[in-house]
Amino acid sequence: MRCQPRYEGPVYIWLKNIQQCLLCDEATDTPQPICTPCETELPWLGDHCQICAVPLPMSGLTCGQCLKAPPAFEQVIAPWTYSFPIDSLITRFKHSANWPYGHLLAELLAQSLQHRFNEGLAQPDALVPVPLARKRLRARGFNQAAMLAHWLRERLLIPCDEHLVQRIHHTPTQQALTADARQRNLRNAFALTTTAQVAGRHLALVDDVLTTGATARSLARLLCNAGAARVDVYCLARTPKTAAST
Ligand SMILES: [Zn+2]
Ligand SMILES: [Zn+2]
Repeated sequence: MRCQPRYEGPVYIWLKNIQQCLLCDEATDTPQPICTPCETELPWLGDHCQICAVPLPMSGLTCGQCLKAPPAFEQVIAPWTYSFPIDSLITRFKHSANWPYGHLLAELLAQSLQHRFNEGLAQPDALVPVPLARKRLRARGFNQAAMLAHWLRERLLIPCDEHLVQRIHHTPTQQALTADARQRNLRNAFALTTTAQVAGRHLALVDDVLTTGATARSLARLLCNAGAARVDVYCLARTPKTAAST
């Protein structure tokens, strides 16, 4: 008599992490809820400016804007260009509070950062999410940059310093503005909090999308003026150069 139930089925299926791909609904046993074909087809950032990550036709170059006016940040790390389907995933995360999309994007960004750290990129002392104006925070209910930074902290074990900087006045939505207007709009938009510890620290700003880079430039300048040793920028996606961002 057998003491154990007889089972010859595919036991391994129980041990594998089968889940649905969030993009195509196919079953996948990948660690994240995205299947390999969908992940491969994401708009991975190709050759880009070595400082601000704007897409360029060749690698190892610095774009005209960074040459003309070097930003205070050291470099931008972004896995993707802001195009389909990344743009719609970010929009769904941000405007429809669809957490699984946000979490998936943060996990993939964390993987890409871990890869860069393994290749020698200096790991920051803390992650600093780009703050949202209080009015917009009330309307949206959450700061998408802070959520990304928290997920990165869990995955990369880098502390997150959410209260280092604050927005001191409400700035009109940046989207409709030209680069110059954005920079003017952002002047004096941020301030360090009274307890902020910045001197000598390597900080990484975290945001969802880098468009003209005006916000990152403004914050990096503020942090470097306060004595930060180095500021990097981590974001999900970089917009290609357009007429509005020149
Ligand atoms: Zn898929
Ligand atoms: Zn550049």
